[in-house]
Amino acid sequence: MSIWSLFYLISQCLILWFSAIEPDARQTEQPIKQPIAQEQQLTQSPLDSTSKYLYLSFDDGPLFGTSACISICENENVQATFFQIGLHQSRSNWGKNLYNRILSRPDLFLLSNHSFSHTYGKYVQFYNQPDSALADFKQAADVLKTTNNIVRLPGNNGWRTDSIQFSSKMVRPLLHKLDSAGFNVVGWDIEWNYTKKGRPIQSAAFMAKMVDSMFAHKANKTKNHLVVLMHDHMFRNEADSAQLLEFIQLLKSGNQYQFARLDAYPGLKK
Ligand SMILES: [Zn+2]
Repeated sequence: MSIWSLFYLISQCLILWFSAIEPDARQTEQPIKQPIAQEQQLTQSPLDSTSKYLYLSFDDGPLFGTSACISICENENVQATFFQIGLHQSRSNWGKNLYNRILSRPDLFLLSNHSFSHTYGKYVQFYNQPDSALADFKQAADVLKTTNNIVRLPGNNGWRTDSIQFSSKMVRPLLHKLDSAGFNVVGWDIEWNYTKKGRPIQSAAFMAKMVDSMFAHKANKTKNHLVVLMHDHMFRNEADSAQLLEFIQLLKSGNQYQFARLDAYPGLKK
């Protein structure tokens, strides 16, 4: 490997490991300058400590691209979690059909709450008003009729489960309220980033290598468990959905990972 490829690999690793804010947040607002005071702890899986579990998660649907994510996971027979936005689900029959396709495969898919409004692009205001933000999540739970208590914050990699507390100061009041209301807040370990046009930045091969590397270096929040964040809209055209297929096939090819839904993640409160 040349020095330049090594440099590229390291720079990409840094981009992935330190991206705590989703690109959709970056597109709508300037990055929020917050001291990231984070408490993080590694937990041991109470399940099978020798297996490695991968949690594919797709955010922001139903959107263009959701259909490809569903079909590819179905064809490859891998489990995944869809974090859906109440507003996107409720605004059209097209959205409801995608939502129903996910619900029709409970053996493969978990459908979880990614808020009703996704903050309408006003992240700081949303997190500074934790009572109305909590109401937004409850509205999404009503619309999406979720049967699990797992939520993901819009544009922010906050965690709050029985075993993980990881957050920026800005979202902590909301995390406290969500926790008290019985929700588990689950973020991610690694994100497949996208361009301003919504297309994947890294290649499937690079992302699969990153997954291997994160397990090898124990760079995940819970030992032997890794959560991958992707966005439905990244895979809305054929060339890009082929990347998702390649990513999944590469991950399957070594027979070293078990794909799981996030309701199997260790340390969630019941
Ligand atoms: Zn989102």
